[in-house]
Amino acid sequence: MSNNTITVIRGDGIGPDIVDATLQVLDHLNCGLSYEFAEAGLSAMENTGELLPETTLETIARNKVALKGPLMTPVGGGFKSLNVSLRQHFQLYANVRPVLSIPGTRARFEDVDIITVRENTEGMYSGAGQRVSDDERVAEAMSVITREGASRILNYAFELARKEGRKKVTVVHKANILKSTSGLFLKVAREIAETYPEIEMQEMIVDNACMQLVMNPQQFDLIVTTNLFGDILSDLCAGLVGGLGMAPGANIGDDCAIFEAVHGSAPDIAGKNIANPTAILLGACQMLDHLDQGDRARMIRQALQDVIAAGDRTTPDLGGNGGTREFTQALLDRL
Ligand code: NAD
Repeated sequence: MSNNTITVIRGDGIGPDIVDATLQVLDHLNCGLSYEFAEAGLSAMENTGELLPETTLETIARNKVALKGPLMTPVGGGFKSLNVSLRQHFQLYANVRPVLSIPGTRARFEDVDIITVRENTEGMYSGAGQRVSDDERVAEAMSVITREGASRILNYAFELARKEGRKKVTVVHKANILKSTSGLFLKVAREIAETYPEIEMQEMIVDNACMQLVMNPQQFDLIVTTNLFGDILSDLCAGLVGGLGMAPGANIGDDCAIFEAVHGSAPDIAGKNIANPTAILLGACQMLDHLDQGDRARMIRQALQDVIAAGDRTTPDLGGNGGTREFTQALLDRL
């Protein structure tokens, strides 16, 4: 990728603390990136009167890559989720959520290394056919799967598996009951899997997938699924490796990509120097992979593993005695 300017949205609550920590790490590694700062969320509302200013959309469109801190969408007042707005605006159809066991996090499992690829635009989230009858006795919502949308995400998932050297893609579905929507998704998956003979395709019904994930998560490599199942399964996977504080996410489209932590703005700990920067740092690693700087991404992941395993300089949620700044300094010392 030739453009080395990325858009940075520091975000709300703990966002500025963890994004600044991440930029320090990126700068330390001389990633050759320059930053165009943009605003969104409550901080943008206070400064510009808008939650998602047009100038922010313009800079993401121009730079094509954004690193985003968590955003607070005001409760009530009919505000649409900013994250949903960004996904829709830039057609970020692939939500890629890797989870990796890191020793020292007190997670229940070791050796979990799963990427969940969630379709981000269709299914129950397309917003089609939402209706509640006047007497509120019946509510309806339509789930829409298109061949084009299914092919796009399945091709993305198999291509990612090939690029990452993953051996198995598990297609999670409910085609036994949802014969039309899940059925079409599975049919397209079988067709696409044939063009990737080196990768094993496994089919798994979503309820069984939930049980298998909590019984024996090490059997999974890469999961691809529709929007609603992906939403639920990716949080379940985060729980396997120590929770949302450890989980990054990338939202990828044909033109743009936005990288973030899965967790929110944590207003309860904002400004206290105790926010754990791991999730957004792992999001930055996904960004570096996307920018063909996988070697630097590997260095950051290794430094995170080392510092978390050592334990003493991490944030309190990981059992450490440090704060965001001490944790970041420990990473810089290792890099
Ligand atoms: P949250 O993820 O912000 O916090 C849940 C709990 O986890 C809190 O106790 C918090 O202190 C803790 N936590 C979260 N991240 C942490 C970190 N990095 N280090 C240590 N502890 C951490 O969820 P919430 O409280 O339900 O939401 C707060 C706000 O964030 C809401 O306005 C919500 O809309 C927004 N939100 C934004 C995003 C996003 O922008 N991607 C995602 C989820 C929620």
